[in-house]
Amino acid sequence: MDPTPGDVEPHRDAKAGSPEREPAWQALPILSEQQSGAVELVLAYAAPVLDKRQTSRLLKEVSAVHPLPAQPHLKRVRPSPRPGCPHALEMLLCLAGPAAGMRSLAELLPPPAVDPRGLGQPFLVPVPARPPLTRGQFEEARAHWPTTFHEDRQVTRALAGQLFSAQERVAMQGHMERAVWAAQQAASRGLRAVGAVVVEPASGRVLATGHDCSSAAGPLLHATMVCIDLVARGQGRGAYDLAPHPACSFAPAAAPPGVRVGSVHKLDEDADGLPYVCTGYDLYVTREPCAMCAMALVHSRVRRVFYGAPSPDGALGTRFRLHAQPDLNHRFQAFCGVLEAQCRRLDPDA
Ligand SMILES: [Zn+2]
Repeated sequence: MDPTPGDVEPHRDAKAGSPEREPAWQALPILSEQQSGAVELVLAYAAPVLDKRQTSRLLKEVSAVHPLPAQPHLKRVRPSPRPGCPHALEMLLCLAGPAAGMRSLAELLPPPAVDPRGLGQPFLVPVPARPPLTRGQFEEARAHWPTTFHEDRQVTRALAGQLFSAQERVAMQGHMERAVWAAQQAASRGLRAVGAVVVEPASGRVLATGHDCSSAAGPLLHATMVCIDLVARGQGRGAYDLAPHPACSFAPAAAPPGVRVGSVHKLDEDADGLPYVCTGYDLYVTREPCAMCAMALVHSRVRRVFYGAPSPDGALGTRFRLHAQPDLNHRFQAFCGVLEAQCRRLDPDA
């Protein structure tokens, strides 16, 4: 019999009777290091445009000699940043090497390819090395040099907490409430209070509910590991004996077309085998997974992970961002903050 969450504390909207219960939490994306890091700067040479009538000719000639293929985001000309400056415009000439020093126009712009008439003495200026990925990075980048910005609307909406509809948020809260309930079941049995739930997002079906079962005999049975094994159980596989933990449960998976569940185990051949254990599924876990659990989620090809609150040794944002490594062969989305207040009172994953 599937146990049902019963003792989760209620957290209804204070305005009783409001038709929609608007959850008081935000699911914020855990961005990649590239997306969330500070803007990296490199030194470049620029020169004042002393004769504005030469601007378009100079732009053409300088761009032909120094096309800056890795910096398409940098605008070539900017208005002089200092008010009262004798010249109105400044032009970006080229990037500077590591031993950048003073250079003359003739050194930077080989004649006769560029006729430097109209330019003043070159100077060094820090410019953004890469295109900005978020609006915050764009604001920072353009303070150094004018930059184009192709906004990723998905990321912007996610950062503003606008990625999920009210209906989706209610469903997300229901899944996390179930994970909180599982964590409370663990705590009541003297186990570490971490709970997790695996959901098939299309149907909203809960495929596995688990909590931390680790003990001296089985120290690796973290809630996420338990849940992955329970999903595998639903597919006719699985390795752990979780019979002593009735709150850990699974539902049989719907088999992909043409596959008898449990019949084939060729994991790397989609054609005649089952997909990876968690392909296409979402995981809800009360606290941020540790490195072992996060890597297990990479291996099992989870689609998205929602966690309530960070863990001090967490690997989906705190210590590492294993879900967003360009050199691993699977990446997934991670969000923090679902039912954060309740989850913060539970144990971290460690
Ligand atoms: Zn763990």
